[in-house]
Amino acid sequence: MRRPSIAIAVSSALLAAGCTAVTPSPVRTDPPRVVPTSPAPDSAGLSAPVADPIYPNRGNPGIDVLRYRLDLAWSPTTRTLTGTATLTLRAVRALDAVALDFSAAYALDRVTLDGAPRTGTLAADKLTVPGTLAADQRATLVVRYRGTPVTTPMPSHRADSGPLGLTIASDGALWTMQEPYGAFTWYPANDTPSDKALYDIAVTVPPGWAGVASGTPLPVEGDTYRYTSADPVASYLTTLAVGKFQKTTGTGPGGLPMTYWTPTGDAERLPFLQRSPTLIAWLEQRLGPYPFPTAGVVLVESRSGMETQQMVTLGARTPIAALEGVLLHEYAHHWFGNSVTPTTWQHVWLNEGWATYLQRVWEAERSHTDIAGWAKDTRARDQELRTLAGPPGNPKPGNFAEGNVYMCPALLLHEIRKLVGDEAFWALARDWTGQHRNTNQDRASFTAFVNRHTGRDLTALIDKWLDSPTTP
Ligand SMILES: [Zn+2]
Repeated sequence: MRRPSIAIAVSSALLAAGCTAVTPSPVRTDPPRVVPTSPAPDSAGLSAPVADPIYPNRGNPGIDVLRYRLDLAWSPTTRTLTGTATLTLRAVRALDAVALDFSAAYALDRVTLDGAPRTGTLAADKLTVPGTLAADQRATLVVRYRGTPVTTPMPSHRADSGPLGLTIASDGALWTMQEPYGAFTWYPANDTPSDKALYDIAVTVPPGWAGVASGTPLPVEGDTYRYTSADPVASYLTTLAVGKFQKTTGTGPGGLPMTYWTPTGDAERLPFLQRSPTLIAWLEQRLGPYPFPTAGVVLVESRSGMETQQMVTLGARTPIAALEGVLLHEYAHHWFGNSVTPTTWQHVWLNEGWATYLQRVWEAERSHTDIAGWAKDTRARDQELRTLAGPPGNPKPGNFAEGNVYMCPALLLHEIRKLVGDEAFWALARDWTGQHRNTNQDRASFTAFVNRHTGRDLTALIDKWLDSPTTP
């Protein structure tokens, strides 16, 4: 997610500082990328779900969803979402019911488990379907539903925080932002970051409208738009947007297919979105190949920006001057957050610290300023952020994605870079993401990796920056 507004104040103060930061720019030698044409096997959606310590009411560690097939239709006139969700899932342990996050705003038309009709119960945004499953048994759950989507409050004090989940715009368009949860407002989900899964999303829209979702776009059939994700996706990284959009395609580095969806009749921001290949190329020079087969941006009626997988969901109200920096940030998350996902929300600093730091390095290069100037100014704000929302290593449930998990861990990364030097630091970034592609990771695995990779014990430094109530 883009940084909260408190960080924007820090950033604008920086443009006055020092000289140019130097970053190594290794030459790309990767072969041209290929968009896979055959579906990934269900096994690519295997996860090891855990209970989330920050949001324990979301997600079910007893269930591992391997694949979601969502067949959706949206009627803007009746404001009705009609859906059939087909979930291929695995019981992590013996179960006597399948329980998932799902909005109680919907009416259930039909529920089956392995083809047998079941009576599903929807209450308090949980769907419960009775059925006995042995540990490691796989099952197919089909849920047919319809209703008017209802959002859920965001547990945060961010200036740009709005309600989470599928949102109906004034003209009947749809869009969603759903970090740390909210996918459950449009499909039955194990709505927690440790259960990544494959997705096939189809959305049928009225004539003249378009449907946009996360994943690789497939050919449009009539008014049905299809997307598939061959790399596993955490539920907070799925997106859906329905509206009157203009579609513009392009090509990124290594032949990466790009798609930009902008509101029909409003192309003002399109040229900035079309800077995406340059931004991705900049990131690839530091982090290695972009980890997915396609990329793109959909512009929606939001104040924020979200790194939804293979299709960034960008708020049309983002100031034009901030667009490129926000896009760089959201693409950086495709390495840090999407491909390598925090196991729980306790480790959201692994996402935001890296995306923030990469954005600052990019901004410093662009403005010919010194990243050390940014570090000095940000350090002066660090205490305020810790006081407001706590140390970044154990964020409070009511302070989701506030400045503490962006700026404080970005300073930690800068400290590591100063200690080990530029070459070792960027090799660490590249190898961390390259060697943990499509996995979940946490502080313990990151610290162990840093120590192994640098040959130094940086545990105390990392713990201090993440846990101290005062600026280290
Ligand atoms: Zn972010």
